[in-house]
Amino acid sequence: MRIQRIEVSLVQGKVETPYVTAINPEGTTEVPCIILRMQTDTGLWGIAESNPYPGFTVESPQSVMQVIRHLLGPAVLGMDPCNIIALHSRMDAVVSGNPFAKAPIDIAAHDLMGQHLGVPIFRLLGGSVRDHIPMIWPIGGGAPTANARQATAKISEGYRSLHVKVGALHPDVDVARVQAIRKAVGAGIPIMIDANQGWDRSTAIQTIRRLQAFEPSMVEQPVPAWDIEGMAKVQAAVNVPISADEVLDSGHRAVELIRRDAARVFSIKTGKMGGLMRSRQIAAIAEAAGVPCFVNSMLELGVSVATSLHLAATLPNLVDHGHALMSNLRMKEDILVRNSFQYDEKNILIPEDCKGLGVQIDEEILDRRTLDRFVLKI
Ligand SMILES: [Mg+2]
Repeated sequence: MRIQRIEVSLVQGKVETPYVTAINPEGTTEVPCIILRMQTDTGLWGIAESNPYPGFTVESPQSVMQVIRHLLGPAVLGMDPCNIIALHSRMDAVVSGNPFAKAPIDIAAHDLMGQHLGVPIFRLLGGSVRDHIPMIWPIGGGAPTANARQATAKISEGYRSLHVKVGALHPDVDVARVQAIRKAVGAGIPIMIDANQGWDRSTAIQTIRRLQAFEPSMVEQPVPAWDIEGMAKVQAAVNVPISADEVLDSGHRAVELIRRDAARVFSIKTGKMGGLMRSRQIAAIAEAAGVPCFVNSMLELGVSVATSLHLAATLPNLVDHGHALMSNLRMKEDILVRNSFQYDEKNILIPEDCKGLGVQIDEEILDRRTLDRFVLKI
């Protein structure tokens, strides 16, 4: 089996409610996503999505399009998609880094291999250790009273954990927001905090110590991604696990974070880590060090959610609360055909008998939302 055609589309996603983070305090509404499709000489089509987000990532949707078009795509055309380690070696030989450009090729290759063998991707990764995963609901910016109302509404819808973005506003306001949310939902609902690199070391330590009164389950990326030493100092100074997100983009970083005890949770995103193979490796490094993983998301559509779902199914070392497998639900419109996922309350179910990724794109929606597109072929 050989890869003979690669189609890449830049697709405009829209978030239902502007999403406020320390990276974009104005709130994000338009989210360009990359959809990649790869056809083999046997007629199979593999699909994948990638979600670079400038500010969070070094890469951008435009850079990912260019890197695939001129470097990665030509390098992997003609290769067997089942030789995933060889695919990565070839990709690494033509360009270093660029995980959000490499990820969709890795993911589409896994989809093709799963279809070729007639098994779900999670079986290719070692098999499932669970049949469902609870979803967490994210809360962006807003005032304490609005946040409390939103939290109460989401808990009454059935969500059992919350992900609160901080770091865009003054720490006093963020502390008041978390206090209001905790008061509204009561004890027993895990609340994770995500500062998206919004604090320096001193602000992080002072603010997390104040937040401890409201029992956060973890605090993600309190300081800039470059400041691993600062993360270690923050972790040593507080009684809450620190989660590594923006900083954690490779196995090398995973080892460094563990060696320095700079993070006690790893935030896993298949795009950030260059695809399923690398994400599985990083999760295994975490498991070997006794570090649990949080399955996280970018602002992404259903193909990425399905990818993370297959990965999450296989990880024994997951954080014991909800995971970010709800990103398509916060978008105005997904590009998958309706009912692509099965839910039980606010748990997303692991698909039992699909082949490969097991999701199908709605061609009309893809066409309507496509901003730019190119095709490579042998
Ligand atoms: Mg994060």
